[in-house]
Amino acid sequence: MTTHLFTHPACLDHDPGAHHPENPARLAVILRRLQGPAFEPLVWREAPRAADEALVRAHPGLYVQRLLGAVPPQGRARLDADTILSPGSGEAALHAAGAVIAAVDAVAAGEAQNAFCAVRPPGHHAEPDHAMGFCLFNNVAVGAYHARAVHGWRRVAVVDFDVHHGNGTQAMFEADADAFYASTHQYPLYPGTGAAAERGVAGNIVNLPLSPGAGSREFRAAVEHSLLPQLEAFRADVLFVSAGFDAHKADPLAGLALETEDYAWVTERLAGVAARVSQGRLVSTLEGGYDLEALADSAAAHVRALMAA
Ligand SMILES: [Zn+2]
Repeated sequence: MTTHLFTHPACLDHDPGAHHPENPARLAVILRRLQGPAFEPLVWREAPRAADEALVRAHPGLYVQRLLGAVPPQGRARLDADTILSPGSGEAALHAAGAVIAAVDAVAAGEAQNAFCAVRPPGHHAEPDHAMGFCLFNNVAVGAYHARAVHGWRRVAVVDFDVHHGNGTQAMFEADADAFYASTHQYPLYPGTGAAAERGVAGNIVNLPLSPGAGSREFRAAVEHSLLPQLEAFRADVLFVSAGFDAHKADPLAGLALETEDYAWVTERLAGVAARVSQGRLVSTLEGGYDLEALADSAAAHVRALMAA
């Protein structure tokens, strides 16, 4: 069984501006790194556009319509202080969500054991009817609802190790006892949600806030002692990963101090849980990560661990 990489050139055309941290260079450095000889067995796949019927499982139809309608024919349109649309943003967002859907389908078909979606814009801050925090569609939630609706994988789990709390994914899942969301994140930090007391309807939300300055030791302890046991007990039919790499010590947007090696470690542990309770089904998608070198190193460590799973 193999690891598939889903991406699309359209994801390089979402351009929120030269000084915006979530810029096309992020994806470019990852793709360049994954073309190296160590990744030769990786199967590259073109991400299709997400269909409307897939998007509306996570977002109201009116939201989808308005978001795509707000894409400017030229120049930029600002949705909030840091969520900005350029002419290529609509296509980028459609292919980013479509990548996760296609990755689910590849795993369901038995073509891939697991997959990484190298896409942008990211998604975990996008709430059902609210774009924010660089995020337009909640890519991982769109993929999870697709897995449930089309493949009958009722119990869906998302683990999010981005340094920011995935308020959008939590908002989608908190009232859904068959969905599980676990997040490690710096707290307090943008977007302000993610306190440990936020537990969902059935303990199906697991927030593991980490203090500014926390590093490998605190991260691994939270994952090992709290996240993994609760994830395994949930017995998901499929595991999704919101793979943000901005908890790296080199990242300029936050204050955690993870090492590149931590991303290999956590990926290997997550793949282990997926192997035991989810038939190995794991679909990961890129969220944040803003130091280009640390981002490329960390994403490479993540994908290497997926390939070894
Ligand atoms: Zn982030």
